[in-house]
Amino acid sequence: MTEHYFQCPYCWESISMLLDPSRKEQNYIEDCENCCNPIELSISFEKAELISFNAKNIEQ
Ligand SMILES: [Zn+2]
Repeated sequence: MTEHYFQCPYCWESISMLLDPSRKEQNYIEDCENCCNPIELSISFEKAELISFNAKNIEQ
C-alpha cells in the first residue's frame, strides 16, 4: 500500500490515505479521518506509481 497525503476538500486539513497500487484505475468514496465527510477519490496507477490523484467533494 502507498500512503498519500492531500488536503480534504471539506475541512482543508492535511490527511493521509492508504492507496492500493495493484489496481490501475480506481474510483471510490472514503470518509475524511478528520471531519468524516465523504470524499470521492479518482486515482490512477501506472506500474505501481501514482500518476493521478483527485479528491472531490461529492456534494457539489
Ligand atoms: Zn475533512
